[in-house]
Amino acid sequence: MNSFDHFTPATLTEALSILAERNGNASIIAGGTDLLLRVKNHIVKPAAVLNVKRVPELRALSFDSNEGLRVGALTTLRDLTRSPLIRDCYPVLASAAGLMASEQIRSLATLGGNLCNASPSADLAPPLIALDAVACLVSLSSERQIPLAEFFTGPGRSVLQKGELLKEIIVPPPQGKTAYLKHSPRAFMDIAIVGAAVRIQQQGGKCQQARIVLGAVAPTPLRVRSGEESLEGQTLTSEVIRQAAKISAESCSPISDVRSAAWYRKRMVEVLVRRGIEATL
Ligand SMILES: Cc1cc2nc3c(=O)[nH]c(=O)nc-3n(C[C@H](O)[C@H](O)[C@H](O)COP(=O)(O)OP(=O)(O)OC[C@H]3O[C@@H](n4cnc5c(N)ncnc54)[C@H](O)[C@@H]3O)c2cc1C
Repeated sequence: MNSFDHFTPATLTEALSILAERNGNASIIAGGTDLLLRVKNHIVKPAAVLNVKRVPELRALSFDSNEGLRVGALTTLRDLTRSPLIRDCYPVLASAAGLMASEQIRSLATLGGNLCNASPSADLAPPLIALDAVACLVSLSSERQIPLAEFFTGPGRSVLQKGELLKEIIVPPPQGKTAYLKHSPRAFMDIAIVGAAVRIQQQGGKCQQARIVLGAVAPTPLRVRSGEESLEGQTLTSEVIRQAAKISAESCSPISDVRSAAWYRKRMVEVLVRRGIEATL
């Protein structure tokens, strides 16, 4: 491993000042479960590492019935699985986090790290996008909010600018029911070859609003608007559900790799979207 400068700021301003001084050329580390592997494998060679674990402003976890949920970037996957607030108001986030890695990794790994690593298979991205979550990005000179659906720009890439970090995620008050289903070759300790999040809000026996978001089948998480539109305004019969699942499979162009063939990923999209919609009824 190469040597690097190491900083442990105690406040957000201190962290952002270091990022600005280094002209953004410092790698942020939270849980380190993604970054350290890449450093050890010489995929990244940081000149400086900024450990943000002690920054209290990144630890928000609060809920307001009008504003919704504020969840800080440093919230661990374990926190997500155990927090009574998350389990009561946004159970899909607790269950998605529970499908990830192992208890040991979940104790270290953070929400912010999972999103900023921007892996196409990141398990927290599809359910958060389905919940219409917003990312709050801060730098020394600015603070901006963008829909999480617009955060990812490619594998390992996001809209984060030099000098910026993810402070927190804001999730609107819960509307309807949300499910996240993940398919991976092994039942535990494996990343998704397909992930599918579905949110359905019904009124008067009809689907008022739908969200379908896929993971691991495109360079970034993929929102399937045509599938959503096929559900909205409809009574969710098995035929309508099957059609939305078929549209979802047709909307993605996954790659074949060592983990799965493209055709199998598409087939699993159809299965998971159908089951996801059924799980919300
Ligand atoms: C054995 C194992 C199993 C795993 N299983 C899964 C799985 O099932 N599903 C899954 O999705 N992932 C999985 N992962 C990947 C990883 O654990 C998660 O992505 C985790 O949430 C990363 O969080 P972290 O805090 O450890 O990130 P770190 O490694 O600390 O950071 C990851 C990246 O995000 C950046 N970053 C971190 N925080 C911020 C911030 N606040 N602002 C800006 N940039 C930031 C870092 O600079 C780095 O580039 C697994 C990893 C391992 C080792």
